Amino acid sequence: KLDMQRVCEETDAVKREVENRKGDLRAADVGLIVRHSITCRSLKQYCCVIRTSMRCKKKYQIWRRERIAREEGRAIREKLGQLYVQEGELEKEHYCRALRLPNRSHPSVPIGDESQARVVELVGEKREFDFKPKGHLEIGESLDIIRQRRLAHVSGHRSYYLRGAGAGLQFALQNYTMDFLQKRVTIFASVVYSLDPSRFPDLNLAGTGEVGVAGYFMDHAVNFKDLPVRTVCSSTCYRAETDTGREAWGLYRVHHFNKVEMFGVTSNETGEESSQLLDEFVMLQKEIFSSLKLHYRVLDMPTQELGPPAFRKYDIEAWMPGRGSFGEISSASNCTDYQSRRLNILYEGNDGNLKYAHTVNATACAVPRTVIAILETHQTKEGTILVPEVLRHYLGSEVIEKPK
Ligand code: AMP
Repeated sequence: KLDMQRVCEETDAVKREVENRKGDLRAADVGLIVRHSITCRSLKQYCCVIRTSMRCKKKYQIWRRERIAREEGRAIREKLGQLYVQEGELEKEHYCRALRLPNRSHPSVPIGDESQARVVELVGEKREFDFKPKGHLEIGESLDIIRQRRLAHVSGHRSYYLRGAGAGLQFALQNYTMDFLQKRVTIFASVVYSLDPSRFPDLNLAGTGEVGVAGYFMDHAVNFKDLPVRTVCSSTCYRAETDTGREAWGLYRVHHFNKVEMFGVTSNETGEESSQLLDEFVMLQKEIFSSLKLHYRVLDMPTQELGPPAFRKYDIEAWMPGRGSFGEISSASNCTDYQSRRLNILYEGNDGNLKYAHTVNATACAVPRTVIAILETHQTKEGTILVPEVLRHYLGSEVIEKPK
C-alpha cells in the first residue's frame, strides 16, 4: 500500500523531506528502508524462481516418466520454507519502518520550525481595552463558570469543571458550529471511546474525532460521483499532554475536551481536489471565527509542525487579550493519500480503476480554546461577558454574569 516505488526511485527527495520534518521522524533511516525494500523484492523473486523451477522440473520428470527424487524435493521445500520465514520477518520490520516515513510537503510550505510559520491572513483587529484585560481562568473563576483548582486534588491540573453558563457555552459552541455546517456537510454522531485499560490494554482513547470518521471510510471504495465527501463530527478528545510543563493551568492545554471536526475525502484526478477542499474548510473556519467576533490570523505551517500525515497545514490563531498573545484555536490539514494508503480508502475513478483517495481534516470548533478567546475578547470592565450574537439563541442570554 505504501508508495515504495517512489521511495526507491526518488530516494534523495524523500531523504530531504524526512530531514525537513521534526524529531523522531529524522530517525527514519531512508537508506535502510530502501535497502530492505530491495532485499524483500529479491527474496520474493528468488522464492518465485525456486517454485517455478520446481514445477518445471516436476513436469519435465513426469514427461520423461522419471520420478522426482524425494530427497531433492524435500530439501527444496525446506529451503523455501526458510526463505518464506526470512522474507516475512524482513517485510514486517520493513513495513513498520516505512510506515514512519512522513508525507511529502507542498512546495510552498516553509521549511523549518514554528518560527518559520507564514502569516497568510490577519482578520479583524486587536480590541482596545480601557482596563487591564484579565485571563480566562480569573474571569471564569470570578463568574463561577470554570472551576479548576477544586478539581486538582481529584485529577490534576489539566482537568476542569465548566459550570452554569460555562457548560452552556460549551454546548452553545458545539450546537452553533454543527448547525452552521449542517447545510454544507454530512453530520456524524459523536464518536466517544470509553474503555477500561486493564481489560483492553491495546486500545487507545481517540485524540480527535477524525480517527472515528476516517475509520468509517476504511477498506471502502467511494463512488466518484459522491466526491468530494464532506463530513462533520462532534467528539470528545483525549490528550496525554505529558511531554510539556507549559500551560499547566487553565483551559489551554487540558486532558480532555470537546471538538467539532470536519473531515473530507476527495478524488485525485487533477492533483488539486484536496487542496481545493482544504481551502474550502479554511473558509468555513474563518466564517465561524469571524461570526464569534474574534481577531485571528491564518498561518501556513512549516515542515516541522506538520506531523507525519500532512502535506500542508493551516493553523488559525486567535488573539487572547488576557494572555497577551495569539493562541492556536484550530488547524486544517491536507493529508493527500497518506491516510488513505494506510486505511485503504479508495474511489472508483472515471476510468473504472480503483485509486487511493485524498483526505482533509479541519477543526471547526475546539471548545476550550474558543472559550478562552471568547471570554478574554468579550469581557467587560464590570467582569461580565458580552455573548457573541450568534451564540445568544443557543445560550439563552446576551450577557454572562455572576449568578446571584
Ligand atoms: P489537533 O487535532 O491537535 O490539530 O488540535 C486541534 C485543535 O484542538 C487545536 O487547534 C486546539 O484548539 C485544540 N487542542 C489541541 N490540544 C488541546 C489540548 N490539550 N487542550 C485544549 N485544546 C486542545
